[in-house]
Amino acid sequence: MNIVLLGAPGAGKGTQAAKLVESRGLAHISTGDILREAVKNQTELGVKAKGYMDAGELVPDDLIVDLMKERMEQPDTSEGVILDGFPRTTTQAVALDSMLSELERPLNAALLIDVDAEVIVARLTSRRMCRACGHICSVSDGQTCPKCAGEMYQRDDDNEETVRNRLDVFDKSTAPLIDYYQGQDLLVRIDGDRDPGVVFADVEAALGF
Ligand code: AMP
Repeated sequence: MNIVLLGAPGAGKGTQAAKLVESRGLAHISTGDILREAVKNQTELGVKAKGYMDAGELVPDDLIVDLMKERMEQPDTSEGVILDGFPRTTTQAVALDSMLSELERPLNAALLIDVDAEVIVARLTSRRMCRACGHICSVSDGQTCPKCAGEMYQRDDDNEETVRNRLDVFDKSTAPLIDYYQGQDLLVRIDGDRDPGVVFADVEAALGF
């Protein structure tokens, strides 16, 4: 089963993806995580991507499509993938369709996790991430990761100005994908402004589990 998770930054895509990995054993592919790792390791991709990411802008489509082509050929994707943060533009969505058709795999659903913009600003500016394992918490949960005791930090792009820019970028570049997947009869809209466990029950139901 191959699933696209759509939604503004901070809508809870990563949280829902982690739950799906745990319950269904699908491979989780987050382009944001891949890019952050590349920035940390100062790879060629990381050096090219950093400026865009810090400003809350999208990394150019050709870089993203190349990295996704390589990632989709890894053996762990053969049982199915949860795509978190990709595609983010119509160009990327068209590229995904051709990647999947070359691999002779279907796209089963595009789940839109829907959350009001002001709720997202509040969520993201208080979000903290574990440097060691990537676990996500709120600033009120303390400075130590509850999962691995690693150090919690605030992502460079989770300050209010950048968050608002990321939301504008979502409206302009990514929101058109809602129509794109509606047109393919793959879109399911899920209210993401609820407890993550309640949202997940809807995610599972939407996927027929
Ligand atoms: P995320 O962790 O998904 O919020 O992504 C963090 C940042 O990485 C975004 O604000 C973009 O700068 C970049 N990024 C992640 N995925 C993509 C993508 N599919 N296309 C373009 N840029 C991306």
